[in-house]
Amino acid sequence: MQFKDITGQKKVISWLTKSAEAGRIAHAQLFFGPEGSLKLPVAIAYAQFINCRTPIMQDGHPVDSCGKCSSCIKFSRLEHPDLHFFFPNNDNALIEKSQSSDYLPLWREVFKENNGEFSYQTWINAMEIGQNRQAIINKADCDTLLGILNLRKFEADYRIVIIWMAEKISDTISGALLKTLEEPEHGTVFILITENPDNIIATIRSRTQLVRFLNLPENIQHSEQNTEEDNENHDKFVLWMRYCYAADVPSILSFSEQMKAHSREKVKYFLSGSLEEFRRCLLVRYHAERYVKATDEEKSFSLKFAPFINGNNIDKFYSIINKTIYHVDRNGNIQLLFTSASLEFCKIFAAERKAIKNTSNT
Ligand SMILES: [Zn+2]
Repeated sequence: MQFKDITGQKKVISWLTKSAEAGRIAHAQLFFGPEGSLKLPVAIAYAQFINCRTPIMQDGHPVDSCGKCSSCIKFSRLEHPDLHFFFPNNDNALIEKSQSSDYLPLWREVFKENNGEFSYQTWINAMEIGQNRQAIINKADCDTLLGILNLRKFEADYRIVIIWMAEKISDTISGALLKTLEEPEHGTVFILITENPDNIIATIRSRTQLVRFLNLPENIQHSEQNTEEDNENHDKFVLWMRYCYAADVPSILSFSEQMKAHSREKVKYFLSGSLEEFRRCLLVRYHAERYVKATDEEKSFSLKFAPFINGNNIDKFYSIINKTIYHVDRNGNIQLLFTSASLEFCKIFAAERKAIKNTSNT
């Protein structure tokens, strides 16, 4: 991957090439920015660039890798022996595949299919790790990494260690990782990638150079379309809210039971979609429809539902959903979590109904 293959992020790229030319290549960098902001493609292009034998020059300055030398070819195939990847994978050490390197062929495939830009959810789906499994960067990964750092480099000027979705580094290994970041070995560059630096342990974050990626303008974003899963989730959300609005306890209980059948990752994805649904309702209510990116079906629902979402209660909706995500992430009982969140929603709706009735009576 060369910089020229990347649409957008020109500022970040220019900063990276200039600081490399000036000999300032930080040994630990944290690429952060929203989903879709091309952090991984830029990381690969950067790794290829700083290791290129004959970089492309412009006005006397190196601006991109050549894409042709033996080093570039190996980097572009993600097969360079000094390029190492760590990413969330199976947390279950008992099964055959339980660390990043076991998934490397699949990783290369998914990278190629998506031009290097893909979401955590896409990766989880590709791994097919089964229901209710968390994907983390685990102890086996850490051992492998320490082993790699003990070896001599093969041939590159800079050995590159890319840690994708670094917020998924297991707590148990963060200490060991911290040590490697504290005592950098000359010629190794760590690139940690995350959507939210706040989710990275502060001690790790503070040892990295932060590189910020802004969201790309919408017209060049990759996936504009809702996936089938998004549509299903929307339908599920509508049902859920109907049950809560009607305080229909039997339906709430069976809905909560159904949620239990999904993997934790799918449940979290559904919940983060719910945050978006609430946000959309609030925008519709305050006539900011032009900011709403949604299908017609979603918009018509938001329009009907909007009167019950307002500036006074939106925080409550958000905090109930966020609390649920937090506990789902920490192995809470999904059925109980949905039942309890639903009952809280019932209370809010009851209060809103009462308020609306009072206003119309006066
Ligand atoms: Zn080259």
